[in-house]
Amino acid sequence: MEIKMDRIERLRLFLIESPIKMARLQGVGNIKGTVKRVLLELTTANGIVGWGEAAPWEVFTGTSEAAFAAIDVYLRAHVIGAPVNRIRELTRTMDKALVGHSEAKLAVETAMFDILGKSCALSIADLLGGRVRDTIPLSFSIADPDFDADMRRMKIMVEGGHRIFKVKTGVKSHAEDMAHLQAMRDAFGDKIDLRLDYNQALKPFGAISILRDVDQFRPTFIEQPVPRDCLMAMASFARDLDTPILADESCFDARDLMEVIRLTAADAISVKLMKAGGILKAQALMAIADAAHLPAYGGTLWEGGIALAAGTQFIAAAPGMSLGCEFYMPHHVLTEDVLEERVGNEEGHVVVPDGPGLGIKISEASLRGNARILAER
Ligand SMILES: [Mg+2]
Repeated sequence: MEIKMDRIERLRLFLIESPIKMARLQGVGNIKGTVKRVLLELTTANGIVGWGEAAPWEVFTGTSEAAFAAIDVYLRAHVIGAPVNRIRELTRTMDKALVGHSEAKLAVETAMFDILGKSCALSIADLLGGRVRDTIPLSFSIADPDFDADMRRMKIMVEGGHRIFKVKTGVKSHAEDMAHLQAMRDAFGDKIDLRLDYNQALKPFGAISILRDVDQFRPTFIEQPVPRDCLMAMASFARDLDTPILADESCFDARDLMEVIRLTAADAISVKLMKAGGILKAQALMAIADAAHLPAYGGTLWEGGIALAAGTQFIAAAPGMSLGCEFYMPHHVLTEDVLEERVGNEEGHVVVPDGPGLGIKISEASLRGNARILAER
């Protein structure tokens, strides 16, 4: 019996710019004012609509303008006409047609999964094998140039049940980092789960004494202390410190992860859908990480509600993603979001949305009402 499968009929793209509430010092690059990202809407012949998001960061993965052009010029022809149940085949076609552009490919794959879920009334987490968790512990990054503002924010968040804070170290002087970590432990003791992220700020030469200093504050892990290609230095820190070392910039894809494992360069990894270039690719990454017993953390770039929902659906169905997530942008940093309703955030946890596909509601009206559109196609 031949079943006539629904196909993608229309693709619309929006390059948007969103104001943010606070300046951010993030080691590899600083952010003030606004962030840009690309939203993608796919519609099938039967009228099912799916959404995806590409949120590159120019110092980390690429640019939003490039993601917009990648989809508009190079991927559009492959997406139009694609059957909704052949997502893996489409990802292979996109990889053949275009090198890199992980965020653009993720946006397409996310919208395809959103549609497939809606067409069979299942969430993306269901399509990935089903949930193993209903909430995900949320980490907030301490990265405000004004540390006192971060301390005031932390106090309110801790009172609201929030526990995990990741401090962006190595941006200010080591002495300032030490004073800030001391202030946080003095104010909150062991009530908080403190993590450190250097975003590649240290040079391998002399890094170990700095790491031994900050180690006194009992961080849960130290993320990416040195540049991404310094895997031997990462391996020495992982060997010499009791505190686990986490690879972020050193681990974009499966090939990177195999190198991290071969050199025992990290004890844990940060998985970002924008780095991995797709939910299926992130799932494959976790199969390797699970085999090597490396737990993972759900990282983010400057992502809005659609990317957050995709990451949440992925982590809900990935047992090894046990170190929480940092999907705090839409609630704490972006001044607005394009969703009709934000993804739930309760007592320091992101709540995995119920409902088919991504489990979110977004409309042209909520998009146009809440984002500055720089370009659309
Ligand atoms: Mg990081």
